Amino acid sequence: MLIHSADFTCSYVDWKKCPNSPEPEYAFIGRSNVGKSSLINTLTERKGLAKTSNTPGKTQCINFFLINKEWNLVDLPGYGYAKTSKSNREVWIKFTKEYLSKRPQLRNTFILIDARIPPQKIDLDFINWMGEKGVPFSIVFTKNDKPKKTLANIEKFKETLLEFWEELPTIFITSSVTNAGREDLLSYIDEVNGIEIIDIEDEI
Ligand code: GDP
Repeated sequence: MLIHSADFTCSYVDWKKCPNSPEPEYAFIGRSNVGKSSLINTLTERKGLAKTSNTPGKTQCINFFLINKEWNLVDLPGYGYAKTSKSNREVWIKFTKEYLSKRPQLRNTFILIDARIPPQKIDLDFINWMGEKGVPFSIVFTKNDKPKKTLANIEKFKETLLEFWEELPTIFITSSVTNAGREDLLSYIDEVNGIEIIDIEDEI
């Protein structure tokens, strides 16, 4: 997929206020500092599109970016560590989970996992929550610029997932330093965009 345009459109702190737009949505989520903003900037080839962790005053919102005037890239708040109070954190965990479980436009969620560290309970708990709710997702390993150093973590993560799941979800291995995995991820979005959604009620 070639990126012709990538425009920030709006930010929300309440999922119910998200626009009633027809475009399919692809959400990106992961622990704070996982490399989400860097990946979004790499995917869109726009250096400052998503604000990186180093940006002062980075807030916890649902951010919409319209890509190629065709689909929405949705940047969700990072979970886990964040420089905010416990009550703030609870509020955005609630609206993020509501967005994920209720948003009709959502076609897939990319759950980002830092390949440089061993499997973390917080990520596995989140993945299992997605499974329980039946929300479609893929796993994206980030910071994979030195594959020899991350291979063992990735293998361990897959093994751990197979303790809970019968089969593995779609997995992408990426680096915002080398651009690894960028094409695969964008092609996947292209593919899913091409799948026609049939409303079962229309068929009856
Ligand atoms: P976010 O909090 O998930 O949005 O993470 P950021 O994109 O702000 O990245 C957090 C830190 O990880 C920053 O210091 C980035 O430079 C670094 N980082 C992000 N992606 C990569 C990557 O692919 N490779 C390496 N080596 N570092 C990365």
